[in-house]
Amino acid sequence: MDLNFSPAELAFRDEVRAFLREQLPADIAQRIRNGLSIRADDYRRWQTILYRKGWGAPTWPKQFGGTGWSPVQLHIFDEESAAAGAPRTIPFGLKMVGPVIMAFGNPTQQQRWLPRIVSGEDWWCQGYSEPGAGSDLASLQTKCVDAGDHWLINGSKIWTSGAQYADWCFCLVRTDTTKKHEGISFVLIPMHQPGVETRPIKLIAGNSPFCETFFTDAKAAKDDMVGPLNGGWTVGKRLLQHERSGQGGGRMLGGGLSVDELAKKYVGVDDQGRIADPDLRTRITRHLIDARAHMLTIQRAMAEAKGNVNPSATTSVMKNSGTWVGQEKAELTLEIMGSQGLGWEGDAFSREEREAVRGWLSGKATTIFGGSQEIQANIVSKRILGLPDTTQNG
Ligand SMILES: Cc1cc2nc3c(=O)[nH]c(=O)nc-3n(C[C@H](O)[C@H](O)[C@H](O)COP(=O)(O)OP(=O)(O)OC[C@H]3O[C@@H](n4cnc5c(N)ncnc54)[C@H](O)[C@@H]3O)c2cc1C
Repeated sequence: MDLNFSPAELAFRDEVRAFLREQLPADIAQRIRNGLSIRADDYRRWQTILYRKGWGAPTWPKQFGGTGWSPVQLHIFDEESAAAGAPRTIPFGLKMVGPVIMAFGNPTQQQRWLPRIVSGEDWWCQGYSEPGAGSDLASLQTKCVDAGDHWLINGSKIWTSGAQYADWCFCLVRTDTTKKHEGISFVLIPMHQPGVETRPIKLIAGNSPFCETFFTDAKAAKDDMVGPLNGGWTVGKRLLQHERSGQGGGRMLGGGLSVDELAKKYVGVDDQGRIADPDLRTRITRHLIDARAHMLTIQRAMAEAKGNVNPSATTSVMKNSGTWVGQEKAELTLEIMGSQGLGWEGDAFSREEREAVRGWLSGKATTIFGGSQEIQANIVSKRILGLPDTTQNG
């Protein structure tokens, strides 16, 4: 297997670099490079620019308005975008609900929803978790009943990322109270209606990336159930695999200087030009081996997949490996920078220094969202290693 880029792939990389140089708004790149969060409007602005270029849906096949890029092209696009300070594409439409509408939606649903995701017209959010249903997601209680010409939804969701900006919510709801997994359906709910209320949850850093979301006699159209009535668990699980495949990529490792370069800068070098602290040197070497092994495994999996876009339980391996290596890098970075790494904002701190503590804090969430690391380990044990089933979470 050849892991080097071909001449055509190198030419593609040049094209991506030129596009980013010319089209990426400087204010957005600057905020991202400074470790600051960007606004919903900035995400929409960037999505519109990508759409106009014909790159609105990098991971989608051409028949649904995507680029039809190979896995290697996608990898190049993602790496170059991260290096340039481009925002991630908003995952909820493009990487989560879009692919399941392609797989489980009927042609009418595909024609209605998919173009609006590519163009960025609709912002989606994910209504899965509830106060009593996180890892054990199938315990969810939000009820959806047949009210004749529409569905009527009552209940509440939590940790709904970006719900305050969303136009639509893809939601797992209970349509049969006598069964667990087989009593769940997957329904698309408009957020702009009287029966929907979002309450942003304020974090210690002052921002509110997610909300509590309340449905009180909220309505959904009869046509807006994806997959069969009570068949939503299969749809919902496939969506989670797509979600996790986006969480195991190179972006989890962060951009900027690598930890060995940082250590040489902050800790100094010995007379042979090596990082001065031998213990730190050993730990950095281990981390670099982990990171390289993770990236090579992604490239190998992409080469073996040969364009097959349906994710599998392997995404759980990638998610755990990518998020662990990302957290390892964040820990080492803070340690190397010492008190300079605690700078939150202001001119006394460089960009890397301001990013360090923010990256360390936000990185904590990566082993929780999309299903915790323990739940991924359970899925690997059950679905890949074939060990006895001890959980209902996968
Ligand atoms: C930043 C962020 C964004 C999020 N965005 C969304 C969103 O947009 N939409 C949405 O629906 N949800 C979202 N979530 C919620 C996320 O999916 C849940 O937090 C996650 O699934 C864990 O559920 P929980 O918080 O209820 O923890 P719990 O399920 O209560 O788990 C607590 C601990 O117990 C462990 N545990 C639980 N069961 C088992 C088991 N069977 N075996 C071993 N260990 C176990 C877990 O690993 C965890 O360490 C988000 C979470 C975060 C942090």
